[in-house]
Amino acid sequence: MSVFSPVELAPRDPILGLNEAFGADTRANKVNLGVGVYCNEEGKVPLLRAVQKAEEARVAEHAARAYLPIDGLAPYDLAVQKLLFGTDSALLQSGRLITAQSLGGTGALKLGADFLYRQAEKRLVAISNPSWENHRSLFEAAGYEVVDYPYYDPATNGLNLDGMLAGLEALPEGTVVVLHACCHNPTGVDLALADWAKVIDVVTRRKHVPFLDIAYQGFGENLEDDAFAVRLFAESGLPFLIASSFSKSFSLYGERVGALTMVTANQGETAPVLSQLKRVIRTNYSNPPTHGAKVVAAVLNSPELYQLWEEELAEMRDRIRHMRIALVEKLQAAGVQTDVDFIQRQRGMFSYSGLTKEQVARLADEFGIYAVSSGRICVAALNTSNIDAVANAMAAVMK
Ligand code: PLP
Repeated sequence: MSVFSPVELAPRDPILGLNEAFGADTRANKVNLGVGVYCNEEGKVPLLRAVQKAEEARVAEHAARAYLPIDGLAPYDLAVQKLLFGTDSALLQSGRLITAQSLGGTGALKLGADFLYRQAEKRLVAISNPSWENHRSLFEAAGYEVVDYPYYDPATNGLNLDGMLAGLEALPEGTVVVLHACCHNPTGVDLALADWAKVIDVVTRRKHVPFLDIAYQGFGENLEDDAFAVRLFAESGLPFLIASSFSKSFSLYGERVGALTMVTANQGETAPVLSQLKRVIRTNYSNPPTHGAKVVAAVLNSPELYQLWEEELAEMRDRIRHMRIALVEKLQAAGVQTDVDFIQRQRGMFSYSGLTKEQVARLADEFGIYAVSSGRICVAALNTSNIDAVANAMAAVMK
């Protein structure tokens, strides 16, 4: 009997399983709409020009690779704060901010989860229904009980605001509440500005712990507007956490560049919180990697590269928007009778298309078009070469 004999095979990750099925499909015109990455018009993950320029400068430096501090590269952490709160935010000088570079947005969520579990004795977290699949697994792995609050309304393909507010109200006081700050994954349905004020009101009264997840800043409206929720929470004076990521906005998926930011209630809390967060990091992976943070910091801290990056981000955002409009038009032209305009209203990389599990299975079997069984499609995987095939196939299974 080996130490490994009791180990059972883990359930297949639904999205990775989908990628495997896609890889094994031999049809030439197959399309993978299951992925969570932005692809350009050529169907490739782009290398942004701003990133390339920053990398060239970095290679030319021939810099040594010492360890970074436990909480990461200071100019990176500061640039993250400016992007989240705005360059003129009073919070930047308040002594209430802590930012630690993390292994992507996922790493930031895990640091926050571990920190709250150990230091605040949190055991209950609420996520939206539905949410990014990893939210549940990640918090469960960190020891939490995970419940959900209403979010998506299938009847309107929009937000169930009343249900969400009532759900948040009914949670036990002090629950950790994960909120998608913009470009909700998987639905693409966001809160309107006025809705956020209502959420903050409930969260404040119920003494919940807001944990904002912002993985798509810049993919909704623009960098500033997409940070609206973050900034409203900042104004509220509440203590809260933010997991942010540059995986998508810099197309730096494999470099694992994210950050955990904590806003304390007052200056006095900051040093103890930072010291304990450093312990979480130190006992986990010691300190973060250099390359991605150096590149992102170089771009964010150079006016010229920042401008180039903003333009490239706008290009990605606009391309997705055009694909949404084209998809709706082509679905209607292909004879889809049901209302599909909501696809145009959704924001970010994804659309909850309304396709059922059975329709998704037919798309794969009959047309070689792969989507997540929930009906989530990645609009950023559409391009002018594949959109007709996708729209016609969707129309065929929707009839
Ligand atoms: N949070 C949400 C809602 C996401 O959709 C993602 C990525 O898909 C992440 C966090 C994590 O991103 P990262 O790849 O930076 O870990």
